[in-house]
Amino acid sequence: MSVRVVARIRPLLKAELERDIVVQGTSSPDNDSDGGIDTIRIPNPRNEGEDFSFQFNSVYGMQATQDDIFQNEVAPTVKHLFQGFDVTIFAYGVTGTGKTHTMRGGKTLSERGVIPRLLSGIYRRSRKLEKDSQGVASVEVAMSYYEIYNDRVYDLFETPEKRTSPGLPLREQNGKTFVVGLTERPCLSLKEFETLYDQANVNRSTSATKLNAHSSRSHAVLCVKVSITTGDETRVSMASAIDLAGSEDNRRTENGKERLVESASINKSLFVLAQCVEAISKKQARIPYRESKMTRILSLGQNNGLTIMILNLAPVRSYHLDTLSSLNFANRTKKIEVKEIENEPMFRGPAPIRTLASVSGPSIQRQP
Ligand code: ADP
Ligand code: MG
Repeated sequence: MSVRVVARIRPLLKAELERDIVVQGTSSPDNDSDGGIDTIRIPNPRNEGEDFSFQFNSVYGMQATQDDIFQNEVAPTVKHLFQGFDVTIFAYGVTGTGKTHTMRGGKTLSERGVIPRLLSGIYRRSRKLEKDSQGVASVEVAMSYYEIYNDRVYDLFETPEKRTSPGLPLREQNGKTFVVGLTERPCLSLKEFETLYDQANVNRSTSATKLNAHSSRSHAVLCVKVSITTGDETRVSMASAIDLAGSEDNRRTENGKERLVESASINKSLFVLAQCVEAISKKQARIPYRESKMTRILSLGQNNGLTIMILNLAPVRSYHLDTLSSLNFANRTKKIEVKEIENEPMFRGPAPIRTLASVSGPSIQRQP
């Protein structure tokens, strides 16, 4: 199974003009099942008479709603989670193209993004499973949430003042990469999830101003752990939802001076990600995953399970070159094969010896 790539063109913002639209999405008659369109066209910047075209699994135009994206692309993954498979959803694109809008969204019900809707779907299915099994099955949901900034991992449940400069270390276990010492919070309901998620997002933005860095330069990684217990068997699967840093190349002046932030050019981890994608697509023996924390965590083409990339695009000319490089990146990504590995159930053995870790209560906190 390969990475599913879904492109979304955001609507024009207030200051943007209709006549500056350069990105077009078009319908394909054989793919009307999702009501979407599946080709993106954009002019060749060197020869505007010529168009480049890119095909993706689906393309959503400026009118697409949050509900369209969720229902068609993300809702079907809930079933996979409950069957014991992992799911990874990540948003890729230039700053200002709608990644955060797509993933987190706005405050109103209709503006809610993919993440709160996914959780809502998980709780709905949990309740149904518990009811249908007449209480034999039970589902527990827990979350952890962190950001990767300058190749350092910071727990978003920690206030920025508490951050230690090297950040949290990573460790590999059973072919998956974990963050060591991350806070994991159980969330019993959608309401509880939303409270924790909002609280953690506040830590994200305040830390961004503190470090004088824009949130567009950090990757936000939300992990939702779904544990389904039937009798003495527990199966754990993980949904990861990632709002990546902006993919713009700040060396380009065409994008306007206001986005020429700091002196760095492209975010290093996104550069490594592009190299990984290229190495995988060329079937090279060495994939440089280990050269950044984000690529180690994402480890595209390894054990991500069902993987969906949402490619966010701005329709207008001021993004032209960055849009093209996003499209080229997405074009390679769609060919990457991902492995769907069913998580093994764990059986409850004899009563565990109570250790310090097991008496620390339901909220597993990192020891100071
Ligand atoms: P990014 O996270 O990629 O930097 P944002 O999600 O912050 O981009 O979006 C940039 C701006 O565009 C925000 O003001 C956001 O509200 C708006 N926007 C993005 N996508 C949409 C959409 N589908 N509908 C309405 N407004 C959108
Ligand atoms: Mg954003």
